[in-house]
Amino acid sequence: MDSSGKASTAQLVVLATSSALTALFYSIYRSRATTVARLKEAKKVSIDHELKNILSETPGRCVPYAVIEGVVRSVKETLTSQFVDNCKGVIERLTLKEEKMVWNRTTHLWNSTEKVIHQRTNTVPFSLGSHDDDIAVAVRVIRPLDAAELDLETTYENFHPTVQSLSNVIGHFISGERPKGIQETEEMLRLGDSVTGVGELVLDNNLIKIQPPKQGFQYFLTRLDYDALLRKQDNSVRLWRILTVIFGVAACSTLIFILWKRYAHHRQSKRERSMLEEFKEQQKKRMRELNLEESSVSPTSCTVCLSRERSCVFLECGHVCACGSCYDALPEPKKCPICRATIDRVVPLYNS
Ligand SMILES: [Zn+2]
Ligand SMILES: [Zn+2]
Repeated sequence: MDSSGKASTAQLVVLATSSALTALFYSIYRSRATTVARLKEAKKVSIDHELKNILSETPGRCVPYAVIEGVVRSVKETLTSQFVDNCKGVIERLTLKEEKMVWNRTTHLWNSTEKVIHQRTNTVPFSLGSHDDDIAVAVRVIRPLDAAELDLETTYENFHPTVQSLSNVIGHFISGERPKGIQETEEMLRLGDSVTGVGELVLDNNLIKIQPPKQGFQYFLTRLDYDALLRKQDNSVRLWRILTVIFGVAACSTLIFILWKRYAHHRQSKRERSMLEEFKEQQKKRMRELNLEESSVSPTSCTVCLSRERSCVFLECGHVCACGSCYDALPEPKKCPICRATIDRVVPLYNS
C-alpha cells in the first residue's frame, strides 16, 4: 500500500487470483454436488424376471437414470489375460509407462517422473446379470469406456529396468535425465466381477441396455457398490466445498483490507484539510486583531507572527511556515502549526 491509499499490484494480483480460484472451485463444487444429488435420486432397479415387464410399461420404454448392480457376464467371446492363466474378462487394458529421473535445476534434486508411452484397451460386448445364477435376465452394457470411475483390476505388473553402462551414466548427468525403466501393466474387468452401473436403462427390441445418460447426467460403471460410490462422490464434493471456502475467505479478507486502507487514507486527508482550514481561519482572525490587510502581508512571511520572514523547514512534514523565533516559542512537544505533525528536526533556511 503506497501513501496514496491505492492497492499495490501484489494485493490486486492476490485479490484477482483468489477470486478466480474461488469461482473455479465453486463451479466444480456445484457440478459435483449436482452429480451426487442426481445419483441419490437415480432409480434403483434390480435385475430379475420383472425387469422387462417394468420397462415395457414405462413411457418410452426407458428409465432416464437408473442404478443396477450385477455381475459381469460375457455375451459371446471373452478376452484372455496375456500373462495370467485362466483369467478371462471383457475389458483388457495394456499400459506401458516410461519411468525416469529428471534433474531439477531449482531444487537440485532428481525427481521421479512417469509418462504413458503406449496404451491399448480391448473390449468385447458384455452384460450385467443377476447375482443369482438361476435368473437369466441380463443388461447389455453399451459404450463402457465412456463411463467415469471405470476402475479395472490390475492383473499383471512388471518393471523392466534400463541397463546402465558407465558411458550412459555420464551422459545422463550431462543431459539431466536418467531412465529407470519401463513399467508394464495389464488391467482387466473380469468375468464374475460385481459391477454397479448408473445410466439410462432402455428396452430396445427385447434387449435391455444400459447406456450413457442424457447431457448433464454422468455415466458410472464401477466395481464399488452403490453406497461406496455415493460415499466417494460425497467426499469429493466436501473437498471442493472446503477449497471454495478457503479461497473465498482469502478473497474477502484481501478485499476488506484494500477497502479499509482506502478508507483510512481518505479519513486522514480529510482531517489534514480541515486542520488547514482551521489554521487559515485563525490566521485571518489574527490579522484582524493586528489591523493588517491581507494584501499587506507578504506571502513569505511567518504564518505565526505575520511579520518576520519564514526561515526554517520542519521535518518530517516538510512545511516551511514559521520564523526561528516563533519556532522557539512553540510549546513542547513542538508540533507543526499547519499539520500538527510532531517536529523531529528543524533545518534553518538561508536566503542569499
Ligand atoms: Zn514568526
Ligand atoms: Zn507541517
